[in-house]
Amino acid sequence: MGVTQGLHRVVQQTPELPATIFQGRVRTWAESADRVARLAGALRAIGVQRGDRVAMLALNSDRYHEYLFAVPWAGAVLNPVNTRWSPAEITYSLNDSESRVLIVDDTFSELASTLKTDCPDLVAVIHCGESPCPQGMFDYEELIASHDPVDDAYLSGSDLAGIFYTGGTTGSPKGVMLSHAGLLTSALGFTAHGGTITPSGTSLHAAPMFHLADIGAWMSRNCSGGTHAIVPMFEPTAVADAIVRYKVTDVLLVPTMIQMLVDSAATRDWDFSSIHHLVYGASPVSETLLDRIAKAMPTVKLVQAYGMTELSPVATVLDSESHRNAGLRRSAGRAAPHAHVRIVDENGREVRRGTIGEVVVRGDHVMLGYWNRPEETKQAMIGGWLHTGDGAYMDECGYVFVVDRLKDMIVSGGENVYSAEVENALAKHPAVAGCAVIGVPDQDWGERVHALVVPTEGANVSADELRAHCKAVIAGYKAPRSIEFVDHLPISGAGKILKHDLRARYWPAGDRAVH
Ligand code: ATP
Ligand code: MG
Repeated sequence: MGVTQGLHRVVQQTPELPATIFQGRVRTWAESADRVARLAGALRAIGVQRGDRVAMLALNSDRYHEYLFAVPWAGAVLNPVNTRWSPAEITYSLNDSESRVLIVDDTFSELASTLKTDCPDLVAVIHCGESPCPQGMFDYEELIASHDPVDDAYLSGSDLAGIFYTGGTTGSPKGVMLSHAGLLTSALGFTAHGGTITPSGTSLHAAPMFHLADIGAWMSRNCSGGTHAIVPMFEPTAVADAIVRYKVTDVLLVPTMIQMLVDSAATRDWDFSSIHHLVYGASPVSETLLDRIAKAMPTVKLVQAYGMTELSPVATVLDSESHRNAGLRRSAGRAAPHAHVRIVDENGREVRRGTIGEVVVRGDHVMLGYWNRPEETKQAMIGGWLHTGDGAYMDECGYVFVVDRLKDMIVSGGENVYSAEVENALAKHPAVAGCAVIGVPDQDWGERVHALVVPTEGANVSADELRAHCKAVIAGYKAPRSIEFVDHLPISGAGKILKHDLRARYWPAGDRAVH
């Protein structure tokens, strides 16, 4: 039992309801199941064997939904590729995962020709775009039309479901091996955690479907029935339009996307009243943004998830009820039903409530290991606990407050400064459109708190004014000692700021040691 379970159950109960809506194309669950079983048959005919990796390099579409079901149905292993990667990174991941088949859409069909030469393990490329199929590739629709449906391979919970690459925020992306039981457990746990998803509603996939956060949302929707509305990629107007048109009930977005959606909502009177849940995660949301969401979408219930690729991906959930409590808004919520979460010191001993330590997690959703990286697996999995590398404390009621990635924490004059706290303070200033806070070398203090600020358009603000603003919000030693104004900040494929790139300029011998 695993990823395909959702399809079997929903098609049995609501075969005629729409499973996917994409650019006006509606497919029912019955159609979806038939196409999945045929695509799985085609994959087997191409030579895909049990355990082989099948990669997908494409923007969001209804075919992504079919891919996610068809690969396990054929007994194979998923490898969704980050569409924001450079050709060199894509080549690396296909070779690293030894993928045998690659499915591409129109956006990537040209690149696929070079990939065929650069990736010797690839035996076939399938074209799933709308334009004519390029020579030397299999046509997705033709494959489905010309193959009979096959039976589900019915992989077991402990089988490898996919290799999912991490965001690459702290270094080069690592392939994470997740099991079927892991993915299903995480989705069921999220769905069961009070008020996190609308049963039989419509989920919008605007965040990239290659990313595990969206795959998690996709799994949750499969667990609770309903419809997947899909847009090719995040674009604020298209997303707003899809929400209204498809009466979307549940949306998952990362904070940078929510910011853009709220900005666009301010310019036009969109009716977002169909949305029940706005799920966010991947990184914290500033209090300023939380307030703006409440104004732009007054009926929306906010749900925050905290997790990581290695956790399939959910560990804790801040439900909508808890968002009403201002004291909990900076929290990442409480352990989801499937996750055992602890905060530990450097010796792995649980710390007292309120004390900052490292988040460690245990449960069936924890990864099987990093693909081809036994050393890194050993470092991350200690005594059965997955060490997240995130610093946090837990309050008396079990609410977890993530303070920073341990790698981003700054030690200045012996004091710990959490970059996220400083960024939150800076973001409260109206002249700050974006910011990143890093530790840079300092003769007197060991490390100095340094901020890179993208000013809002037309704003004329000085470094002194921003420092004074920070000192009014947080302790003086946490305020940035130096501020640099920049046009933009380097962002990863998952929309996170690449702080190790920013630090690289200041730490010539590579990134600094982790505290
Ligand atoms: P890499 O591991 O390659 O550096 P990454 O850690 O960004 O990349 P992901 O697995 O996509 O890759 O992201 C997980 C991380 O995102 C977590 O370890 C945590 O630092 C951060 N994160 C996720 N959700 C939240 C949240 N709700 N609040 C704060 N941080 C979060
Ligand atoms: Mg990580």
